[in-house]
Amino acid sequence: MALLDVRDLKTYFKTDDGIVKAVDGVTFSIEKGRTLGIVGESGSGKSVTCLTIMGLNAKRNTITTGEALFKEQDLLGMGMRRLRQIRGNDIAMIFQDPMTSLNPVHKIGNQLTEAVLLHQDVTKKQARARALELLKAVGIPRAERRVDDYPHQFSGGMRQRVMIAMALINDPDLLIADEPTTALDVTTQAQILNLMNKLQEEFGSAIIIITHDLGVVAETADDVLVMYAAEVVEQGPVNQIFSRPHMPYTWGLLGSLPRLDAETERLVQITGQPPSLLRPPSGCRFHPRCPYVMDVCKQTDPPLKPVTGDIDHYAACHLDEETKDREATKLLAGMVAEARTG
Ligand code: SF4
Repeated sequence: MALLDVRDLKTYFKTDDGIVKAVDGVTFSIEKGRTLGIVGESGSGKSVTCLTIMGLNAKRNTITTGEALFKEQDLLGMGMRRLRQIRGNDIAMIFQDPMTSLNPVHKIGNQLTEAVLLHQDVTKKQARARALELLKAVGIPRAERRVDDYPHQFSGGMRQRVMIAMALINDPDLLIADEPTTALDVTTQAQILNLMNKLQEEFGSAIIIITHDLGVVAETADDVLVMYAAEVVEQGPVNQIFSRPHMPYTWGLLGSLPRLDAETERLVQITGQPPSLLRPPSGCRFHPRCPYVMDVCKQTDPPLKPVTGDIDHYAACHLDEETKDREATKLLAGMVAEARTG
């Protein structure tokens, strides 16, 4: 059974200029112990999807519909008190900037201890022991001493580790990580992703990792959800998305992965800008930027359809199967050749 089952989720924001459809009919599920990567450019709706699930978008100007069943209870219809109990206990979040979760004026040991005391019936001494245990688990050197340091006394990578400790301290069933490594250098990024993989094996949580970078998805995820302009355009197991990507936007994301030998050189760039969600393009929302656009694309939004021959792999695109397979093969062959000759 799915740990989290999101069905036809819509998040619309009322603005003076009209309705912004930030999430427009997103459906996915995640099971315990699995990692789902939600990938897309800025403004694709990936972060808003998760904030809505967590009840962090529940403002007066927001219209939310659909379902987000966590252990069969709908998070969307839940009262704030119950949601607060679930947040930080059953579901935890890691943000790009650790300072959104860490209080700069309190020692990290005290913050971790407080987080335990808030959700668990333990003594202060036991809570502090748990704090120390987690700091060691996330690889903070000399944790016994550093537990009494303030957040600003840690480097960016170490702060991110502390935030992971904070997120895992109550042994959550689901961890949502929003661009957890974007602000970090490449080496630290790799260390943090390895750490998350290792901790997942140890703690068995499900993880949703939100990122603009398919490289991060390749390192961490079992399944992928590709979002474009508030909609899901492709989803499936990571090996199928990487071996048989089935629509041009995913091709663009794959083609823009950094080459193995040069961080800055890219094979293919997606040209143009993501559309306004106030007035998204008609038909396929990717059509103004798509090199394969046809007349039908401008009029009809392609539905997510199963990819023939694959299991649990869906894509939304009007191109015929033969063209999709041919172009995907060409792209992947080009990436391999680039990697070899680069
Ligand atoms: Fe491109 Fe048309 Fe496919 Fe959209 S439906 S991705 S515009 S080919």
